Amino acid sequence: MRILIVEDDELVADAVGRGLAAAGFAVDRAPSAEAASAALATEHFDLAVIDVGLPGADGLALVRRLRDAGSSLPVLILTARDALAVKVQALDLGADDFLMKPFEQAELAARCRALIRRAHLKAHGEVSLGGLHIDVGGRRLRIGDAPVELTAREWLVLECLALNSGRIVTKERLQEAMASWDRPLTPNAVEVYVSRVRAKLGAAAIIRTVRGLGYRLDEAQAASGRHP
Ligand code: CA
Repeated sequence: MRILIVEDDELVADAVGRGLAAAGFAVDRAPSAEAASAALATEHFDLAVIDVGLPGADGLALVRRLRDAGSSLPVLILTARDALAVKVQALDLGADDFLMKPFEQAELAARCRALIRRAHLKAHGEVSLGGLHIDVGGRRLRIGDAPVELTAREWLVLECLALNSGRIVTKERLQEAMASWDRPLTPNAVEVYVSRVRAKLGAAAIIRTVRGLGYRLDEAQAASGRHP
């Protein structure tokens, strides 16, 4: 998987590059929006990590340019300020995620993996996550080589979490994904279905409960470091 880092600050770009390379990514760097546009026009990348603060056109202008050109390249925005306005603007322009400086290298690598996985799932209808192999189109789940049977509603839980892997999915959103007009669902029922799916995944991947917010599907490895 190849990542383009767009950052003019050499120290930050070095650190980010080293961290992502250590996490197994191939990494290239561009010091400006112009250099990034040139690289993206000629080479294939799986993700761009773009700093908002760049000389000339800034990171948000670069995202706008990419999306205007029809690119669906996953984009993670780095920002020096925890400014809500910047985040809202970045998402409006079509960025997929953002991270505020300073951040942990492990956190950046995990976000990058999640974004690339999500893009792959949307493009190809299937994805591997930890020991799971999820085929959304065929509605099949394998753990290693072993097929796992899910009921229709259990499948809807897994599908919704997988399409948003690494991101928090609210209980209300799961409820909407699983309910239909003739088969309404209570929040308690959502919890029951999540527990059933969690049990079926075993140690292959982890459905974390984020108190008060919802659930998040993580690779077993990524989840274990933060929540032993
Ligand atoms: Ca910068």
